[in-house]
Amino acid sequence: MIIVLKPDCSEPQLKHILEKITEMGFRHEVSRGVKRTLVGVIGEEDRLRNAPLRAIPGVEDVMSVLKPFKLASREFQEDASVFDLGHGVSVGGGNLILIAGPCAIEGEQVLFEIGRAVKEAGANVLRGGAFKPRTSPYSYQGMGEAGLKILRTVGDELEMPVVTEVMDPRQVELVNRYTDMFQIGARNMQNFNLLSEVGQTNRPVLLKRGMSASVQDLLMSAEYILASGNKQVILCERGIRSFDNSTRNLLDLAAVPNVRGLSHLPIIVDPSHATGRPDLIPSMALASIAAGADGVHIEVHNCPEKAMSDGPQALLPDQYAELVAQMRAIADLLGKTIPAPGDAVTV
Ligand code: PEP
Ligand code: MN
Repeated sequence: MIIVLKPDCSEPQLKHILEKITEMGFRHEVSRGVKRTLVGVIGEEDRLRNAPLRAIPGVEDVMSVLKPFKLASREFQEDASVFDLGHGVSVGGGNLILIAGPCAIEGEQVLFEIGRAVKEAGANVLRGGAFKPRTSPYSYQGMGEAGLKILRTVGDELEMPVVTEVMDPRQVELVNRYTDMFQIGARNMQNFNLLSEVGQTNRPVLLKRGMSASVQDLLMSAEYILASGNKQVILCERGIRSFDNSTRNLLDLAAVPNVRGLSHLPIIVDPSHATGRPDLIPSMALASIAAGADGVHIEVHNCPEKAMSDGPQALLPDQYAELVAQMRAIADLLGKTIPAPGDAVTV
């Protein structure tokens, strides 16, 4: 349910409303928009329908959200969400993030080299996996905590926020010590225990769309994180399974404007995992920005043939730099900003 407050609802009245909601056994989430303040009331649907919310002083209207995702919906929050990722980089509401780096963290030296190159090219978030969700148990599984330490060191040295995947609720506390943003991978998008666990931190979460998940499934998974108390979810379209094996996955570009209509959460695109093909990544990245994405997530390696994972889809630093220049031109055209690490945050 969404409570619309009267325009003249005072702070003490709002406090009273929130206390009443808690007394009734529901949870609440306040959304202060430019025009109105709303209160999302979360709880069991049948009980909510009969709750006497309209009778509380200061309440103008009570509406049920028909969509199954509530806190993630545009009804609950009209204005685009903007999140601060650290080092002056924010995402959403016209701020684009360019996440770049190797698929896996392989060592300090190589991550420094790649990190320096992507930062110089204009990337504003450094990526690298320390826990890798590989299809085969015999493939490289990542460096674990040693990799997280390297990522933190390199991120700090380059003054870039970092993002890395967390695969298991038991790893959340460990990964939280090193990263600026959690990544939940496609294979774990519906690992509801993991979603609730990152939902109990206050760290931004990059939630990737599962390879056979609908747009609604993606938003329902975001809802798990939001309902656990963490408002900072960034969605990522990374391609879905199709019958056509000429690309690794099928990029659902329409998901970008589709999600933007349904939700206030930022949505970015990962053309690397969506296509698996360096010859297609640049055009899909440009199309993503043009389609209204809040950023792109691209794998870059300085020596793809030696990469421990996903080498064949990595862009070389020079190719990435050329692409960033083109993305910048589209961003300028659309009046969007690519924050440079170190800039003042605009949240
Ligand atoms: C990755 O980002 O390296 C990754 C494994 O992505 P996805 O979960 O989208 O396959
Ligand atoms: Mn990868």
